[in-house]
Amino acid sequence: MSKPVLLTVDDDPEVLNAVERDLRHHFRTDYRVVKASSGDQALEAVRQLKQRGAQVALFLVDERMPQMSGTQFLIEAIKIYPDARRVLLTAYADTETAILAINRIGLDHYLLKPWEPPSERLYPVLEDLLSDWFARARAQFDGIRVAGNALSPASFAVKDFLASNQVPYQWIDMEDEASVRELLSGSAGGAARLPLVFFPDGTSLVQPTARELAEKLGMQTRARQPFYDLIVVGGGPAGLAAAVYGASEGLRTVLVERSAPGGQAGTSSKIENYLGFPSGIRGDDLARRAADQAKRFGAEILTVQEAVQIKREDPYRKVILSDGSELAGYAVLIAPGMEVRRLETEGVNELLGAGVYYGAALTEAATYRGQDVCVVGGANSAGQGAMFFSRSAHKVTLLVRGPDLGAAMSRYLVDRLAETQNVEVLLNSTVVGVRGNGRLEGITVQDGATGTRREMPAAAMFIFIGTAPRTALVADVVQRDPQGFVLTGRDLMSDGNRPAGWTAARDPFPFETSVPGIFCAGDARLGSGKRVAAAVGEGSATVSMIHQYLRTV
Ligand SMILES: Cc1cc2nc3c(=O)[nH]c(=O)nc-3n(C[C@H](O)[C@H](O)[C@H](O)COP(=O)(O)OP(=O)(O)OC[C@H]3O[C@@H](n4cnc5c(N)ncnc54)[C@H](O)[C@@H]3O)c2cc1C
Repeated sequence: MSKPVLLTVDDDPEVLNAVERDLRHHFRTDYRVVKASSGDQALEAVRQLKQRGAQVALFLVDERMPQMSGTQFLIEAIKIYPDARRVLLTAYADTETAILAINRIGLDHYLLKPWEPPSERLYPVLEDLLSDWFARARAQFDGIRVAGNALSPASFAVKDFLASNQVPYQWIDMEDEASVRELLSGSAGGAARLPLVFFPDGTSLVQPTARELAEKLGMQTRARQPFYDLIVVGGGPAGLAAAVYGASEGLRTVLVERSAPGGQAGTSSKIENYLGFPSGIRGDDLARRAADQAKRFGAEILTVQEAVQIKREDPYRKVILSDGSELAGYAVLIAPGMEVRRLETEGVNELLGAGVYYGAALTEAATYRGQDVCVVGGANSAGQGAMFFSRSAHKVTLLVRGPDLGAAMSRYLVDRLAETQNVEVLLNSTVVGVRGNGRLEGITVQDGATGTRREMPAAAMFIFIGTAPRTALVADVVQRDPQGFVLTGRDLMSDGNRPAGWTAARDPFPFETSVPGIFCAGDARLGSGKRVAAAVGEGSATVSMIHQYLRTV
């Protein structure tokens, strides 16, 4: 298979040659560098590359070109290669244009000229972007292939698992008979039991569970050490930050995650308010980077492992996992975040994975390309979901129960939705019924103000109706408030008294729960910020409290 292409465009021959030289110097082993001296010439090259079936990983384009600006070129080029990363080369004076391009074309980065030394100012940026691209690049002939039915919950579960763990795969819809017949002829069970997952080593799995997939893909599911300084439960931003800081500061650290690292943030199609990412970042990219960072410092990350019980055996803390194994350590940080609220409407459960989805289900954008879909909810996550699907669906209807979209949604998203032509916002709208035979066909919406009901056709419905803390695990272990949020630090003190059953000869540390040595950070903690940055801050700050605690045991 030929190498993916890095395409650079600049009308200034000196700059063009310098970019080409630097790109070749650093990336030539894995990528092919193609250059063009104008937007028109570059578009012609892009069309030819497409015809030849080449992959384009990156466009690196000068903004100021006389006939066609960099942004204009990118608008056209990404119609042909929508997944390629987009970088503008700008002069200082062009930064306004670059910021506009972030919104207009989803610009990934703008690089200020000159980029000397490239080892500091060019390569790290491009390496990050290329690893994001690679994580999602469609596996071609030699990658993993999943054959199934687009509207089957089992197929969705496999796709969702692979996507949330950033494993590239090629999806083969069973309706595409010709391509599937050949694949199925050699597999036991044939088409009767779907989905089928084919691996590059020639093996296949029929209707695999998440655990079987994780093990086959070489993900770590079991602990390597008998004892840890810090056991983290939950791999969202709070848990990942604690793993990075804990491991980087020398603590023997293990993190347990029931599904894939990233948590709620990992399902976000674009996080725009996280410090240091002016163009926004996909939640799964942020999660993958954080997990890589934690592992680089020596943290172990166990996936597809749920913590089902936490035990106190002083001075040790033990975490029992869903497969019956046990982790032992000095300190435990619970960062279990939030779980989505379920829509209690008849028929919803029967159509889960067959048109009805909780959260953004990013893998399904292609399935519903050109169709009418609904997004249910009125907070930021629903707004992000509506924006995400507006790029591929024919029409997105955002159904908001309350009378005011701005009540729970950030202003920038409200504005973005208003500017997007194929998004319609229906206020005072509650979903009271769903219908469909094996797949969602339509929904019934009730107007909260008038009580009138209307039928709406919908190929898919993505539900974002709020969350509740996922803290049942520690219900009998630590103090929680009536909503299930975990109390920590000063919130545990009452009239200067320490919490009932408290055994240490000191007050609880910040982020420490009512049991010494068990800490809590992130959304599940009472009073937390409910934002990615807040969760990251809490997870990392907890590590310094854990150091203090470890001095006492
Ligand atoms: C769609 C969406 C978009 C969002 N967009 C933004 C945004 O743009 N900006 C922003 O600042 N915030 C955003 N948020 C909010 C942000 O994602 C959360 O505040 C943040 O993820 C909270 O981090 P956390 O680590 O506390 O918990 P979570 O992200 O909820 O992660 C908790 C993790 O713990 C795991 N877990 C739970 N229980 C167990 C157990 N018993 N065993 C093992 N693992 C367990 C879960 O599987 C999960 O992965 C968004 C949220 C959603 C849902």
